[in-house]
Amino acid sequence: NPATAWNFAAGPARLPDAVLERARDGLFVRGADGASALERPFTGDAFRATLHSARERLAQLLELPAGYRVLFLAGGAMQQFALVPMNLLGGAQRAAYADSGYWAQRAIAEARRYCEVVAAPGFAGAAPLAAPPAGPWDLPADCAYCHITPNETVDGLAYPALPDTGEVPLVADATSCLLTAPLDLARFGLLYASAQKNLGVAGLCVLVVRADLLERAAPAVPAALSYRRQVEADSCLNTPPTLAIHLAGLVFDWIAESGGLAAMGAANRRKAATLYAAIDGSGGFYRAPVAAAHRSPVNVRFQLADEALVEPFLAAAASRGLHNLRGHRQVGGLRASLYNAMPQAGADALAGFMADFARRRG
Ligand code: PMP
Repeated sequence: NPATAWNFAAGPARLPDAVLERARDGLFVRGADGASALERPFTGDAFRATLHSARERLAQLLELPAGYRVLFLAGGAMQQFALVPMNLLGGAQRAAYADSGYWAQRAIAEARRYCEVVAAPGFAGAAPLAAPPAGPWDLPADCAYCHITPNETVDGLAYPALPDTGEVPLVADATSCLLTAPLDLARFGLLYASAQKNLGVAGLCVLVVRADLLERAAPAVPAALSYRRQVEADSCLNTPPTLAIHLAGLVFDWIAESGGLAAMGAANRRKAATLYAAIDGSGGFYRAPVAAAHRSPVNVRFQLADEALVEPFLAAAASRGLHNLRGHRQVGGLRASLYNAMPQAGADALAGFMADFARRRG
């Protein structure tokens, strides 16, 4: 029954109910111009109005400081693993990267094709897992930027505080955390996020970049992949993902109507607390591998003390309408993603099922 089923996928993930309803009523209907939102040219006034209002709403939600630009680009965050060095190295030979887990490592592997990667303070890899240390990071001044992954979607790990990288611009892969809580944007030189977790649907990557960094793009960067060229072209140097941008605008509206980022942060903390309490209160039946202060509020990773119960757990959960709880293949175990669109009722349903399963199988 779709009304009582919950999707805990890490992305593409659940959309807010209001967004699905508005999309159904607004996107697939032709207007007086003979076109629906799916059919309008990206060069026309109607799409430009959609784009500008999405950007305006996002800037309001983020309290975007002066001197920052917002880009709506085609593709996902993985492209940015290459495009960040291509656009930001300038004349530099090196950039710093913090290794905090799976996605940081993939960003590092891609960056190595473009520059020397200097190791910023990373995680120790010890159990329980912890994010890199907070506080000032002493980085060589010739690093073009320092890249971090504030929320590791696969590892279920989040930075409790941002590092201070001094003069070295901080760059973040914010794919699984952008818009899940208030954010001090002035701390960053650039951040980027794929849309399919908290900003809408796949196909779109949102970037926020400090304008002075736009001058660094290498001459060989393809025009459509150049941050500077896309800023100059209002994200429309070539056809942008118009449907995904339209949906992102609906998501931004919903967040604003729901109380903005402070409300998202509070609701996300509460949902996460519900699940971590179910894990920690299970007498060891369930275990969270991440240190308490470093646990992600949106990707709750957990394990069963008895590994043989993973498949029975997943099957029983699905039969109760609790879907997509399998952990990433790289780390195994279980994971519940609780992005903005997951209501408290979803977290409550899962916590109730977990207690039930532990009672029956413990
Ligand atoms: N970074 C992080 C933190 C992610 O969670 C993901 C997707 N799960 C990616 C990068 C890759 O995004 P995409 O598949 O949209 O390229």
